[in-house]
Amino acid sequence: MGRPEVVIFTGAGISTDSGIPDYRGPRGRWTLDPDYEKLVTIGYYLADPEIRRRSWQMRREIHALDPQPNGAHRAVAALDRSGAAAVRVITQNTDGLHQRAGLPAARVTELHGTSQAVVCTACGERTPAAAAYARVDAGEADPPCADCGGILKTATVMFGESLDAAVLGAAAAAARGCDVFFAVGSSLQVYPAAGLVDVAAGHGARLVIVNAEPTPYDAVADQVVREPIGQALPRLLAGLPAGWQ
Ligand code: ZN
Repeated sequence: MGRPEVVIFTGAGISTDSGIPDYRGPRGRWTLDPDYEKLVTIGYYLADPEIRRRSWQMRREIHALDPQPNGAHRAVAALDRSGAAAVRVITQNTDGLHQRAGLPAARVTELHGTSQAVVCTACGERTPAAAAYARVDAGEADPPCADCGGILKTATVMFGESLDAAVLGAAAAAARGCDVFFAVGSSLQVYPAAGLVDVAAGHGARLVIVNAEPTPYDAVADQVVREPIGQALPRLLAGLPAGWQ
């Protein structure tokens, strides 16, 4: 057998050590601010300049924190660099931290888009998010598209928007073809996470779950790891070439 094909599916839990809060946990964004959902819902966002103003402020504050990749992100990049496995990351996160840790962008499928770019809702022009945040810092509460004046939004998939069909197809193909499927820092309770686990397990992949809380797939997993992701994932991935079978 050749080198294993490894899919590493990641959710918010891999980035909490980098200081990015999750949504539903005890210190999650929704728990602390019930109004938060409106800031990330496309209907409210397009309809209400005040929601856009608050949304830009919220994103700018997270951007200003300049979150850095942690040991788990670095371990994934190191596995890819080692050549011991064919690595594909499928992530629910929009923070770009896998790429910042050194994983080539071509290896990363971002189900929910990226916060590292903004897109014009009128003309589709895509530009770096940092430039938009600089405009917010300079006093533009709701910076419009520099080309057409349309409403700009983050290049993430907001509530009320559909996931990109091509992105979903790529994720499903990776799940179908992998030998090992790691599910890391995700509750695996929402679409499409649960569906991808089904696809991988249905095609005979070894399923390894690394998550602090129980998931609906623990009973069918080959291995369930509860310890902190920053400790567990580097160890699990380092052991892959010898121990994955
Ligand atoms: Zn435009």
